[in-house]
Amino acid sequence: MTAEKPVLATPGLKFDPHALASEQLQHVYRDRNSGLYTTLLGGLLQAMLIGWGTKFVFGAAWYGWLATASFWHWWIGRPVHARTATPLAGIPLHVAAAAVAGIGWGGAALMLPHMALSAQAAVLVVMVIAVNTALPRLVIFMPLFYAFAAGVFLPVVLVLPFLAPSAQGLTAVVLIASTLMLGLTARNVRAVLVRILLKQVSFEQVSWEDRLTGLGNRRRFDEALDAAWQHALQLGVPLSLMILDVDYFKKFNDTYGHTAGDDCLRKVATALAGCVKRAGDTVARYGGEEFAAVLFHAPMADARQMGENMCKAVRAMDIKHEQSTHRWVTISVGGATIMPKVGMSMQAFVETADAALYLAKESGRNRVEWKMVA
Ligand code: GH3
Ligand code: MG
Ligand code: MG
Repeated sequence: MTAEKPVLATPGLKFDPHALASEQLQHVYRDRNSGLYTTLLGGLLQAMLIGWGTKFVFGAAWYGWLATASFWHWWIGRPVHARTATPLAGIPLHVAAAAVAGIGWGGAALMLPHMALSAQAAVLVVMVIAVNTALPRLVIFMPLFYAFAAGVFLPVVLVLPFLAPSAQGLTAVVLIASTLMLGLTARNVRAVLVRILLKQVSFEQVSWEDRLTGLGNRRRFDEALDAAWQHALQLGVPLSLMILDVDYFKKFNDTYGHTAGDDCLRKVATALAGCVKRAGDTVARYGGEEFAAVLFHAPMADARQMGENMCKAVRAMDIKHEQSTHRWVTISVGGATIMPKVGMSMQAFVETADAALYLAKESGRNRVEWKMVA
């Protein structure tokens, strides 16, 4: 059996970078509370150092600024954390918030020119630790990490000319060394995190993908039908369903072998997927040599036309089948259309499409039969 998969035009089944970026941003905010607590705690230490190096009031003022900036970043992450917002819509805002949170720490640089060398060194070390602590959380979404790190270190660069010459050398060395070190660590940590995240995303994908054809599997179909049913019920729009079955497939297997049968199913899947154009439509492998399609907001005439197109598309694959009365591999399609109302049975809807399929088989195969559910 060949493990090769065809390239299908099914929306959602191929790897989606947009979905990954959303996952990444969600990862940034998943521990946002502990991030805020760490900042407030670490900030307290920094505030004491500033108070010790300058005046108590400067330490307190800086701490107020850090708390405000960090709280804003925390606040911006709230909808992403609660999954109530489409995260990617607000990327510039998230980057800005990360930069402000960074400047929360970086603001301490304003105090450096007024400090003795030992206090300066201590304050710088705490700044580096702050970036290092935020790194594992932010690095999965690089722009956020860069914005935060720039917010911390740029103010230090800006005050560099105002430091005593003896302190300039030390500060510059700390800056360059920590930028290099943090940059390298960020790359490594990011590589590991992205690998884990990719595994997680592809695992979720596998759970609703049919391995042989790459179409959605039965589970995917059940979920799609359920969702479409609820939407159609709410909006008062028609919903159509098709069950498609390969004709004389047992004979195909018997004649050409099981591997050729699998190849045939892949080609049929490709033909069916090629007929689905709207984002709200789902085509899945229902089981064995049966496929199913859910067409949301599709009146009978349109849905039936798509059924006809699918029949033609499979026939146009020109897969020879000597034992079929049609000489080529064909499918039969049973469809049903409904205007869902409260109290109607989804199961009965599926059975209606099944009954239409039976009729299509009985009346000669390679054809579409349709029933309207009143
Ligand atoms: P009809 O035209 O009435 O649908 O006849 P049929 O032979 O297609 O129907 P039947 O249900 O009798 O046979 C279905 C066959 O599909 C039997 C089974 O071996 C084959 N089949 C089911 N799943 C797979 C699969 O994954 N790969 C292959 N190669 N064959 C499969
Ligand atoms: Mg069958
Ligand atoms: Mg069949």
